[in-house]
Amino acid sequence: MGYSIEVKNNAINKIRERKLSTEREADLRRDKIFSELKDAKEYERKIASCGIKAGRAVLSGGDVKHELEKLKDESLKLQAEYETLLNSKGYSIKDTEPKYFCEKCNDTGYIELKNKTVMCSCLKKAMVEFACEELNRRSPLSLCTFDDFNLDYYSKDLDSDYPRSSYEQMKRIFDFCKKYAETFSKHSKSIFMNGMTGLGKTHLSLAIANEVIKKGYGVIYVSAPILLSKLEKEYFSKNKENSTTEDALSECDLLIVDDLGTEFTTQFSSKAIYNIFNSRLLLGKPVIVNTNLTLDKLEKIYTERFVSRIIGEAERLDFFGRDIRLMKK
Ligand SMILES: [Zn+2]
Repeated sequence: MGYSIEVKNNAINKIRERKLSTEREADLRRDKIFSELKDAKEYERKIASCGIKAGRAVLSGGDVKHELEKLKDESLKLQAEYETLLNSKGYSIKDTEPKYFCEKCNDTGYIELKNKTVMCSCLKKAMVEFACEELNRRSPLSLCTFDDFNLDYYSKDLDSDYPRSSYEQMKRIFDFCKKYAETFSKHSKSIFMNGMTGLGKTHLSLAIANEVIKKGYGVIYVSAPILLSKLEKEYFSKNKENSTTEDALSECDLLIVDDLGTEFTTQFSSKAIYNIFNSRLLLGKPVIVNTNLTLDKLEKIYTERFVSRIIGEAERLDFFGRDIRLMKK
């Protein structure tokens, strides 16, 4: 799963806290029940002792089957009596136990599956929620969806440099992106978004991210400058255990890099970007990249080979028209 360490830790902490507070609540309820029903505690002790005796019987050998059946009967009888006692004050045995949010894993976040410990769906869901939060926090815009993308800002006049109006072009791009998000899979095509600032590239990238995250995929959305400063920090830090960004970038289901070319370019940055993209493309893992730079300028920074490699693999979306941010003001 391609989530950042921060997202993973937040999700694990959330589940841990949920478990603790559920158990704390159960303790309080039990205290209350025990104070109201003085025999209740004794019943609990007796029922638990049946379990311990059963364990001993198995270990000691002899007529284990007979002994276990006897203990089972005894335990069931005690439970029935206990339940009756609790009912007399309007409680049930369930009230003495923690009411876990997830019954599959009892809020541990992990389950046993074919002799393997695997992540429970509740932990995965928590990760998706935090990934979404992280995405929204880092993005320059708040939550961007397809619903709040307004095509009316684009001109319907034919553009002299292009075969169609910017409205028509944006309608095509919008439809493509929407369908892309709806039908996303781990091996979807990559997308290369190109065009001037203020035409909706970031908005549509975020809309795709939101939609794909909702489907439960691991998505990393990051702007190129932030990405590179993170990689650089990790690369030059002594503590290599913190070097998780690179792993997450190659592992996630969808990597979206916003504003490629606006970062401060060094030999390190162009090599790092090349490595990330190349390793994903080799594995057939999708990347969405958007840039305000012309292809010429991009080639100068990242070599012709790199640019043609991306464009060759990706669906190219050309954004043109007038800056819609100015019109919105
Ligand atoms: Zn669970």
